[in-house]
Amino acid sequence: MPIKVNPDLKRSTKEARQLTYYTDGLRAGSRFILSEAITLIESEDQQKRISGLSILDKLYTADASTKRIGISGSPGVGKSTFINYIAGYLASKGEKVAILAIDPASQKTKGSILGDKTRMEEIGSNEMIYIRPSSAKFELGGVADTTKEAIHLCEAAGFDTILIETVGVGQSETAVAQIVDLFCLLVLPGAGDELQGIKRGITELADLVIINKADQSRKELASISQKHYAHSLHLLRPKITNWTPRVLKSSSLEKRGIEKIWKAVETFFEICHESGYFMANRKEQNLNWFQKKFRQLAVEYYLKKEMNLKTFQKLETEIRSDRNNPFFAMKNLYETTFPR
Ligand code: GDP
Repeated sequence: MPIKVNPDLKRSTKEARQLTYYTDGLRAGSRFILSEAITLIESEDQQKRISGLSILDKLYTADASTKRIGISGSPGVGKSTFINYIAGYLASKGEKVAILAIDPASQKTKGSILGDKTRMEEIGSNEMIYIRPSSAKFELGGVADTTKEAIHLCEAAGFDTILIETVGVGQSETAVAQIVDLFCLLVLPGAGDELQGIKRGITELADLVIINKADQSRKELASISQKHYAHSLHLLRPKITNWTPRVLKSSSLEKRGIEKIWKAVETFFEICHESGYFMANRKEQNLNWFQKKFRQLAVEYYLKKEMNLKTFQKLETEIRSDRNNPFFAMKNLYETTFPR
């Protein structure tokens, strides 16, 4: 007679084996398993997400030696090229770099960052560099992204520096500023006077401003912009004690500027560690993440009931076609959710 195995036990053994597969793979620095783990946490399937969270939980450390750097700027300012430049520089110094690119426009353009051919050709084969385009889905309740989870997975796989690229439009840069240690804004020479096209709010987020494409031919213009930006930033209330946002120049094309920039980055991290800001900020970011995810879970839980989703869609259509006003619709929802 065959021995009956408790199905719960069978499942838990399988889950444990799966968890070990991921944790061992990540600890060994496998890029393949890292990609698999990121796919898991990005999944729409709740069970897969739970598995992803188990991996993160198992590997979680409050390790303070990594650098999480957000890089933002308008399309065409040179973000991808600049990130390649930094990544190449760091890799040549023996550091492992992960690049996570969030493209909120990717839903429309089918992933412009993903399809960045030049990037893949230049650094795609470098063993020290890991590249992963991330999705920022705009859902009910804001940006639903899993970049913070991806950062932690990259760190678990031994990547020292995580560069997070985001387009300087929409909500994504605010979301990125909330998950990085240093937020860097790229601007073009000549854009200083009126902080051209850059929303003030984004400039306020910046710990570092890079005047990009500061090629030899535009040296003077770049220096003027540098002064303008430095002046504007000086007027803002400092976000971090002992750190006034720095403005530096770079030309990725002529490979100029990285030494100074990286020195400033290191100084920034030293100052943040010394003042205790670094750990306090990461702790606060963890809490923010949890609060945000809780709200997302609440929405998901509510919409899990098909009735709720249907009622929501029906009321939405009614508001759109002026058959109903938003207050009546909300009153209606309140009454169904909290019946007397
Ligand atoms: P992104 O949209 O911000 O990621 O910008 P890209 O990195 O794709 O760059 C946009 C264009 O600017 C490309 O044609 C690059 O070759 C060019 N570019 C990038 N960096 C520099 C630079 O330092 N100097 C000059 N002159 N052109 C650059």
